[in-house]
Amino acid sequence: MLKILKGFQLIDGTGSAPVADALLVIDNDVIIDVGKAAEIHIPEGAEMIDLSGRTVMPGLIDAHVHLFLDSVADPLGLALQDSDSMATIRAVRNGAKTLRGGVTTVRDMGWRSFANLDLRNAVEQGIVPGPRILACGQFLTMTGGHAWSCGLEVDGPDELCKGARQQLKAGADLIKLMATGGVLTPGVEPGSPQLNEEEMRAAIREAEKAGKRSAAHAQGTSGIKNAIRAGITSIEHGMILDEEAVEMMLERGVYLVPTLAAPYWINLRGLEAGIPEYAWSKNKNIMEKHKASFQMALRAGVKIAMGTDAGTPYNEHGQNHIELKLMVEQGMSTLQAITAATQNAADLLGIGEKVGTLTKGKQADLLILNGDPLKDINAFAKIDRVYKGGKVI
Ligand SMILES: [Zn+2]
Repeated sequence: MLKILKGFQLIDGTGSAPVADALLVIDNDVIIDVGKAAEIHIPEGAEMIDLSGRTVMPGLIDAHVHLFLDSVADPLGLALQDSDSMATIRAVRNGAKTLRGGVTTVRDMGWRSFANLDLRNAVEQGIVPGPRILACGQFLTMTGGHAWSCGLEVDGPDELCKGARQQLKAGADLIKLMATGGVLTPGVEPGSPQLNEEEMRAAIREAEKAGKRSAAHAQGTSGIKNAIRAGITSIEHGMILDEEAVEMMLERGVYLVPTLAAPYWINLRGLEAGIPEYAWSKNKNIMEKHKASFQMALRAGVKIAMGTDAGTPYNEHGQNHIELKLMVEQGMSTLQAITAATQNAADLLGIGEKVGTLTKGKQADLLILNGDPLKDINAFAKIDRVYKGGKVI
């Protein structure tokens, strides 16, 4: 079944300048032609869809979400009360909300069971609606480490090795490691290192043997450097970078997934909204450093992929596009932010040959906006429709 979308502005996700009056030809789930309308041969018998006044860009890719967490004031507290089946029901709903919000691919960054792998498979099989999901299974944290109540506690290189092998056996797409403390766990500090270099190296080695990637929750400087030296693919949050850390990331091609939305919402909603005092005050201490770190990485040319940490307090599933606005407010051009949320994120996830840009042969995953986000950043919130694999959601 051929479909032709016409009359829109195209932003293809590669960082190229937008194309006015563009045309996009979809055969079932795949883009078979795209570009300036005048330069494209129009096949016969196709369904024509007029998208005048709209912008078509790749569906967003969010490299860091928690579908199993609801974005309440204390998500980890709620998760402790939930049975695994209750949390899974929430996750199914959160996946659907995410897709309707224009996000066609996510990376689920961990849960205490393998239910995120089941959800990934259920979406793939068409049992429930949702974005394409890559998932890490359980994340690996040290005993008493960040978010210990929601992951797998492991200590020493042998246990890290075994923990990683268990995730890979269950079908994980990547291995996630807790390199430092974090904001949402009482009694741990974002700045302090947790899993040490040898421990992380043991897990990363297993990921690499299986052809998979790795990601580290890493907020403080020494934990960030431990993760980089251990061979990590991406630094998540990266709140307190220094010049040496940035240099190391550039040298080794390590990605930064800044998740600016997570501290933004905690700070905006605050204690009045019921956010625990320990989380609020840790967040307050780290926010300015986070912003400076993001800007330092951006200036230096570190590869940046969009991630929201959706599922943290008031960081709602389906509102992922706010991260683009925050990245622009903190120094990116709008086109750079779009590329971070499309091509760059697809590259980080290792799926760039399939999604992330609107080019021939790619999946027809489309975010269609009323208006032009290059002129009005609020256009990201004006979603006209979303396509996943050539089908309207
Ligand atoms: Zn997270």
